[in-house]
Amino acid sequence: MLTENLWYPTDKIFVNGKWKDCHSEKKLSLENPSNGEIIAKITDADERDIDEAVNSASKALRSSWGNLSATERGRLLLKLSELVKNRLDKLAFIESIDVGKPLKQAKNDAIALARYFEFYGGACDKIMGETIPYLKDYTVYTLREPHGVTGHIIPWNYPMQIIGRTLGASLAMGNACVLKPSEEACLTALAIGELATEAGFPEGSINIVPGLGKKAGKSLISHPNIDHISFTGSVEIGKIIQSEAAKNLVPVTLELGGKSPQIVFEDANIDKALPFLINAGIQNAGQTCSASSRILVSKKIYSEVIEKMSSSYSKLKVDQALEDKDLGPVISNRQKKVIQNYLNFSKDLECIAEGHFNSNLPKKGHYVLPKLYGNVKYSHKLAQEEIFGPIQVIIPFEDEEDAIKIANSTKYGLVASIWTLDGARQMRVAKAIKSGQVFINNYGAGGGVELPFGGSGYSGHGREKGFEALYGFSTLKTIAAMHE
Ligand code: NAD
Repeated sequence: MLTENLWYPTDKIFVNGKWKDCHSEKKLSLENPSNGEIIAKITDADERDIDEAVNSASKALRSSWGNLSATERGRLLLKLSELVKNRLDKLAFIESIDVGKPLKQAKNDAIALARYFEFYGGACDKIMGETIPYLKDYTVYTLREPHGVTGHIIPWNYPMQIIGRTLGASLAMGNACVLKPSEEACLTALAIGELATEAGFPEGSINIVPGLGKKAGKSLISHPNIDHISFTGSVEIGKIIQSEAAKNLVPVTLELGGKSPQIVFEDANIDKALPFLINAGIQNAGQTCSASSRILVSKKIYSEVIEKMSSSYSKLKVDQALEDKDLGPVISNRQKKVIQNYLNFSKDLECIAEGHFNSNLPKKGHYVLPKLYGNVKYSHKLAQEEIFGPIQVIIPFEDEEDAIKIANSTKYGLVASIWTLDGARQMRVAKAIKSGQVFINNYGAGGGVELPFGGSGYSGHGREKGFEALYGFSTLKTIAAMHE
């Protein structure tokens, strides 16, 4: 079924505008997390393939790609967006099988991918420098210029969305890109090679090289001709990336994990909040950097929230991805074990509700039940660390001060939300929370292609999405001309 939907090779790398065998003949297997079957063989790229990809990107910058005007780059991105739109269902189907996410969620990711290319296609020729008043005999102005060759390393959980935001912004600024997708899910990343060719992107402007992190990924971040690295993934690997990049003084954007809180005050519209409180925790089986895994609830409304959340939770269904229920499997047996290991620390906690499995799930699929824990202390391991699974904790709080203290008690700072109808409180708490994004009376706001995104602390640094990403993917030159 999958092969009928693939219209491009999956066992090759995409370099210099062509599909190529990689140097090593060894292949890596991609597994369908819903049933454990091997769905495709992908390349195990090494430093020779990365070297070719980086060289082809450098060459593109000096020729065809580098010679395009901002408007021409924009048109290519808009064309790419149209091509993605024409293939939404195919891309969603492929992503659903590869990542194990319910079909509707995969379709939303495909729509977001098209939207990123559209947004950045439109933004290309609207990013401007400034003139700066200086000494009388001078005219001074600034230019936004591309870094050069940008390396992009991405995880398996949202390949399409992350490709859209990271490649979209980088290409818009005129960089040439080398993408190393995850070895655990990379089929839609490869589709971009074929779509880029169809759109007319010049050779070498986009290169896609699947392989292992410790081999292809490591070669990419340490390559001497890489000018910027955008990394999305775990804290552990983020630290490695930053220290490797430091050896060549290469700037790095790090989009890492989170332990994002939603704070429900006593005057909140609980019924409106309810679907956000739950969906933000269980979407993509909780394997979302911005998953809301901590629900902070005012003690004054605690029993009401618990009752309503539990009732919704017990209706959650886990099934194979293509069955399109609330949750699919998690990505791998390894990830399932990580989650189970965390659950070993839950013995002192009260599980107040859980979802249920479809009765005939394939034995080799990687399924985890969504679980909701009540009355959890904010300092508990399950309330402090990113689990990356469908596990949420509810933490009661006394008052506003207590809520802020608890919200800011982890090492992360990615996303937060505040549920209250009190306008002054909305402003106070939004300012006091350590978080890259704060939503008021909503969570996530539908993906938010336009909204700058990124964190502080263990959530990383730098911003992607929105116009802000264009600054990160460019460097500023100041030109000071003295009048003769
Ligand atoms: P991971 O860090 O294990 O892997 C991410 C990527 O890094 C993969 O492509 C992998 O091959 C590569 N990699 C691994 N070792 C490497 C090395 N030594 N050198 C270079 N590259 C290497 O993360 P994952 O398990 O794929 O994804 C889950 C993590 O990603 C979670 O922590 C999640 O919070 C985070 N994430 C963050 C965001 C965000 O925008 N902040 C979005 C999605 C996921």
